[in-house]
Amino acid sequence: METIYLDRLLPLEDYDKIIVLFSGGKDSLACVLDLLERGVPREKMELWHHDIDGGHPTRKMDWPVTQNYVRAIAEYLGITLRVSWRVNGFWGEVYRIGASWPIQYEDPFSGETLECPLSEKQLRSARLREKILNDLEREELEGMGLRMKFPAKSGNLATRWCSSILKIMVADTVIRSLDLEELKSIGSSQRFPFKGSIANGRYCSPNLKREVGDSLIRNLDLLKQDGQRMKLPAKSGCHQGRWCSGSLKAQVESKLYADIDALAQNVKILVVSGERRQESAGRSKYNEMEVHRTNATIKAHRLVHQWRSVIDWDETEVWDIIRRWQITPHPCYAAGWNRCSCMMCIFSLPTHWAGIRELFPERFMEVEEDERVLGFTLDNKKPLAEYVGSAKSCVCHDNPLALHQLTSGEFSVVDVERQKWTLPAGAFHGAAGGPC
Ligand code: SF4
Repeated sequence: METIYLDRLLPLEDYDKIIVLFSGGKDSLACVLDLLERGVPREKMELWHHDIDGGHPTRKMDWPVTQNYVRAIAEYLGITLRVSWRVNGFWGEVYRIGASWPIQYEDPFSGETLECPLSEKQLRSARLREKILNDLEREELEGMGLRMKFPAKSGNLATRWCSSILKIMVADTVIRSLDLEELKSIGSSQRFPFKGSIANGRYCSPNLKREVGDSLIRNLDLLKQDGQRMKLPAKSGCHQGRWCSGSLKAQVESKLYADIDALAQNVKILVVSGERRQESAGRSKYNEMEVHRTNATIKAHRLVHQWRSVIDWDETEVWDIIRRWQITPHPCYAAGWNRCSCMMCIFSLPTHWAGIRELFPERFMEVEEDERVLGFTLDNKKPLAEYVGSAKSCVCHDNPLALHQLTSGEFSVVDVERQKWTLPAGAFHGAAGGPC
């Protein structure tokens, strides 16, 4: 904190670009509105949103409506939005075997998906995952109930990675279910290692089975050398244990500066984020202004400052500015939540989890299943069901439209100021904030 402390910012007009880290929650919305009230031109600003789900085809950690909400706010305010993510998001990271998945972002002007350069490890893991999948015969996958069709390969990196998301899901599932001990026994039993998958070597000879088994063991071992997660984030203050904030937000953000031409060099950038001292003991000690971790004034003539512009605001000031602009806050507030961020944030209180169970019962059951599969509980001490216990759901039913938006994911620019503005039910209801 001391080494990066910054005494003062440049005058706002001296920055070439002002980036607001925009989760869709009330505090980051307050930052955007505050900058507009200070007269910062819209064309100088960009809203950056990190999609925590990273396009995972089946699993979600965040509210289904968040992506549409942030797009609608950006469109309504006339400010460029840049969405970025780590491929396969939170759940891909939970079940990751091998190096971390690539970081991608949407070019706000062309709509194209771009990818940050891959490390050697990431490239090697991608090849190994592909090899493992190729080793598994399609009939075997079908025998396991996974009827996935692989999209055609393309020379275009973005397209290839998009299509490979489907494979990644297969890879996650298949690799997880590989039993190394059974694989090793192929030689003696001459049996393919997937339960109920194939009858009497109908599809391949014992030699081929052995060859495939050996190759799987070899490649799986190599893949594990590149790293693996296979656990849920810990409720801790540091990014290492609470890996979700670091891997899916901070690292995703950091990678972008060097990859976007206009931000890579000879530029002055101000990053604005919405942490408030009132939220937690940790945040109460944050610097208001500091040198951002991606500052590279010597190497790239890139100056990056960070400003927590609402750090000393209390919750009343936050709601006041949103009321002044008559903007509908994220629908989760009307449904009774006091903080937004990830829907199933690991720091959620029992009453929030009871709310998730009420609105999204399948999601709740999936997390219970994850705890069983991983042998790791989301709470540091007890399984989810026990943690929630008989807590009363936090869901407030006074605003049916907000509940519909929250569960259906529907939200467009016409919804931004559609309703008469009222303070949402979740305002001032404690649980001020977690680390994100
Ligand atoms: S700490 Fe909570 S809000 Fe932050 S990334 Fe993890 S789950 Fe999401």
